[in-house]
Amino acid sequence: MAEPTDVDFAGSCVCCTPNLSFGPGPTGVSPAGSDPAAAARGAQLVNTLASTHVPYPTLPRTSSTVGGQFDLQSQDYQLSVYCDLTYVKGWIMYLIRLDALVPAGTGGSGKVNWGPDPAPGATPFFSGSDWRLAKESTVIVGGGACNPSGLWFWDGSAWQNVPDAWQDIGSVKLFPIGIWAEGTVNKAQTDDGLWPEPIPAWGATEESLRSSVLPQWINTIQTTWTNKFDLKRQDCPSTDSNCCRYHPKIIATFTETTTFPIDLTKSIVLAGNKGLRSNVRAWSLGDDRKYLPAHEFGHLLGYPDEYSGGGPVDTSVNEDGATAGIDNKSLMGMGMNAEATAIVKARHFRVICWELSAMIDIAIGGQQCYGHVIKAVAPTS
Ligand SMILES: [Zn+2]
Ligand SMILES: [Zn+2]
Repeated sequence: MAEPTDVDFAGSCVCCTPNLSFGPGPTGVSPAGSDPAAAARGAQLVNTLASTHVPYPTLPRTSSTVGGQFDLQSQDYQLSVYCDLTYVKGWIMYLIRLDALVPAGTGGSGKVNWGPDPAPGATPFFSGSDWRLAKESTVIVGGGACNPSGLWFWDGSAWQNVPDAWQDIGSVKLFPIGIWAEGTVNKAQTDDGLWPEPIPAWGATEESLRSSVLPQWINTIQTTWTNKFDLKRQDCPSTDSNCCRYHPKIIATFTETTTFPIDLTKSIVLAGNKGLRSNVRAWSLGDDRKYLPAHEFGHLLGYPDEYSGGGPVDTSVNEDGATAGIDNKSLMGMGMNAEATAIVKARHFRVICWELSAMIDIAIGGQQCYGHVIKAVAPTS
């Protein structure tokens, strides 16, 4: 995904993207932009915008059409960003990459394919198709002390010890997945969607954890993302700084359901155990990193990780503190692990800007569409 600039996000309207630079002047005669006729046309355009300016403080709730998994609504410039998640109760387990540590032909493929490996020396990420189901264990298969990894893998017919030599260099050889039961079917977040043994129901411990943790998650998502930026219609000609200035508030809800349609957005596996890490569709109640839910919400808006060792990063992001997609002082980067650095950046409001632009286009009815730009600006107090 291209990053236009760090704060200005062109609307999705393509019918009449404005050209306010008015074109170059006559070659060799005057500097670019000084063509009087073009300047006059530009002034006329600006006047037209001013005379036809209609503010849109109120816009109906709409599911995003420009990416991300959220609904947007405006009431008197109070912008509600709805993150309504449904969840099934389940657990975090794993896919493990064993490569040559197991003999060729060993069964139990996890049936995922994450594409080619990075070039040697490049930043590692989750890749390849050599993945098997895995789970944590405190003993070795057959009894005895735990093996170094504390993990078993599924070979297609039984659990086996992960070889002692296994190491997760770069943190890209163990991927968390959610597992859950739908009736008597044991499901996993893999391409074939199956887990090879019965999945236990939650007990009192997990129910109690949910009661205490979900309200904290909601609070963290909402406070981390709210009052960080306002959205301002760039082409608003009013001298009133509050005209066309929207105040986004994130509203997160979690609703239990009994099935997890893996293709359906806005649904997650809520894991009752503490996984070594979570993923965007499997959130661990036992994960005590405070900003995890706010980070995962960023994924729901469509933003990739901004640290190496996660999924692929967007190397085209090179501003606002990011270098080749990596930003250590960002909620989407390693910064998520500390309050001082779990920072939401202006670029993280891009998709909300796009959706707001699209909604204003609809309100305008396409008749006066002038490809407005919505930008993220410092919040009003
Ligand atoms: Zn305005
Ligand atoms: Zn992430």
